Amino acid sequence: MSTENDKVIETFRKKGYRVTNQRLAILDVLRNINTHPTAEEIYDRVKSQIPDISLGTVYRTLNVLEELGLLQQISCDESQSRYDANVEKHYHAICLECGRVLDVSGDLLDDLEERFFVETGFTITEHRLELYGYCKECNLKKKMEDNK
Ligand code: ZN
Ligand code: MN
Repeated sequence: MSTENDKVIETFRKKGYRVTNQRLAILDVLRNINTHPTAEEIYDRVKSQIPDISLGTVYRTLNVLEELGLLQQISCDESQSRYDANVEKHYHAICLECGRVLDVSGDLLDDLEERFFVETGFTITEHRLELYGYCKECNLKKKMEDNK
């Protein structure tokens, strides 16, 4: 935890950002859950540590953390973004029923990038992929309803 924090603090300083309790607390919340929460959900959790924090501050802080490369914003839901402190290359599978967001690990599209470059000379520097469907729990629920 402390080495993790040291790295975070170094990232802040290098880019000329102040290290504040709010910034550290929000990042900490995000690093300790893998549910890809919304800003409101993060706000609810961080309030227990910093009772006078506002939702606006949470939003601004999330933007700063994204600029620093410490989190990524996932726009799977048109009405609100979700946030992920895992900035390694991975993909997201989104349940159309309950909205759950699961991680899909791996570099699925590296071959495609390579092949496309060979075929066209186009260098792909970034790609986004979201997978939509139904999670295990929702599948099960559906099955049980069908069998009634
Ligand atoms: Zn589901
Ligand atoms: Mn993720």
